[in-house]
Amino acid sequence: MAGSYMGIPREEIPWFPVIEEDLCTACGNCLEFCSNGVFSLDDVVVKVVQPYNCVVGCDICAKDCPTEAIQFPEKKALVPKLRQLREKYSHSNLYKRQKVES
Ligand code: SF4
Ligand code: SF4
Repeated sequence: MAGSYMGIPREEIPWFPVIEEDLCTACGNCLEFCSNGVFSLDDVVVKVVQPYNCVVGCDICAKDCPTEAIQFPEKKALVPKLRQLREKYSHSNLYKRQKVES
């Protein structure tokens, strides 16, 4: 499902949750909440198994975690990062188009 976002390979975008295992009580809220398969129950521990399935810019499950165990990067760093990556990939797409056309 990772694919791309605004023409940027999803794996290049540093946006996904991280669980602080010491704080996690394995209550399962995040598992139930996220329909994108980002989380999974591994034995008795909840883990992030598909980080790039996380919707870019979404952090709603962190607000639903009773122990604040789910962390996301700072949102304000996301916009400049996306701008930088869009620039990078629009250049590489242009280069590819020019190669095909020549
Ligand atoms: S909601 Fe928080 S405490 Fe509950 S399983 Fe997820 S990370 Fe752990
Ligand atoms: S922020 Fe949204 S998409 Fe990302 S893991 Fe949480 S619920 Fe899933």
